[in-house]
Amino acid sequence: MLGEETTSGRPHLFGLRPPDLVAALAARGVECTDAESRRICAHFVSHGQTSLRTLRRPVRRPLREAVEAIFEREGLTLVERVRDDDDGFVKYLFRHADGALTEAVRIPLERAGRYTLCLSSQVGCAMRCGFCATGALGLRRNLRAWEIVAAFAGVRDDLAREHPEGRIHGAVFMGQGEPFHNYDEVVRAAQVLSDPCGGRITQEAITISTVGLVPQIRRYAAEGHVFRLIVSMTSAVAERRSTLLPVAGRFAVAEVVDALRAVQARHGGRVTVAWVLMGGVNHGEDELEALRTQFEGVPLRINLIDVNRWAEDGTRRATDEERHDFVGRLHAMGIATQRRYSGGRNKHAACGMLAARHEEQMGAVPREAPFQGLVELDA
Ligand code: SF4
Repeated sequence: MLGEETTSGRPHLFGLRPPDLVAALAARGVECTDAESRRICAHFVSHGQTSLRTLRRPVRRPLREAVEAIFEREGLTLVERVRDDDDGFVKYLFRHADGALTEAVRIPLERAGRYTLCLSSQVGCAMRCGFCATGALGLRRNLRAWEIVAAFAGVRDDLAREHPEGRIHGAVFMGQGEPFHNYDEVVRAAQVLSDPCGGRITQEAITISTVGLVPQIRRYAAEGHVFRLIVSMTSAVAERRSTLLPVAGRFAVAEVVDALRAVQARHGGRVTVAWVLMGGVNHGEDELEALRTQFEGVPLRINLIDVNRWAEDGTRRATDEERHDFVGRLHAMGIATQRRYSGGRNKHAACGMLAARHEEQMGAVPREAPFQGLVELDA
């Protein structure tokens, strides 16, 4: 079944919501009521317990024995935890059962004790964006929904040890991988994370990002999910966008915008796109003109994210003057902007860097860091 498959062949409880648990047990001839399924899911996923023996209101013994015999409940192995004292970002590197490494980042929000979690959706990534370490690793495999939820649980449990009152308030799929390249598992993970018996994060506080896979954006709109969607645009000029985001060679800007119209029609409000701002590259008059023509009639918000590095290929961060000029001209066109902070650079905390460093130690080739557009700054 979707989301639950493990290397042992036993399904994992982290991939299930209560109705899924009822169905999975029924398929194995075990009866479980709705109330029992809610208590079991909340016990494992919401409260991080590993044994039904600690359940406050015990379930029937045959059901307890069946659940313990049928389902996996173990989480991921925490390999490394790195805190950046400058900005409070905490980066986690997890090892999966098959040895794969993925990352998650805990990001402090303005209100003390509240955090957003940046989650990975794949091991590596096939999209090969020009400014990204993960893209250089290539795609190894998709994550199962339960593995994504297990990363959430690992961070949540670590937070509870450090700060018992702390709470993970939101989640963003902006770590390793292209979430819509693993659509079914990511949507299932988001559903478990937002379930009252799962991660207990409100649906509106979960953000899924994509580089612009048009069929999946259309499917997302048609299915009517209420998670937030962000499309990585970075350039509206076709040739430049294809260079920076190779997937753009497959889906033209106009097609992406058309798919976004369907999202906007369903959700209302402004469509949000991410824009990795590179000094001297993607803030000129040609970009403004392309935005004007391509997004005509689409209410737009641009999340501006500083590119993470100065690199051998000449990529550099935009100066304050360049950014202010671009923002001013966007505002004059009626486009809202938010500046997002790409955090944790000092401690290998940008996405892909810890995995890249571990890959380097194992002989693979690392690259520089990609972005995470996560914390709001003044433009
Ligand atoms: S930026 Fe995201 S989609 Fe692009 S290569 Fe990196 S992980 Fe993949």
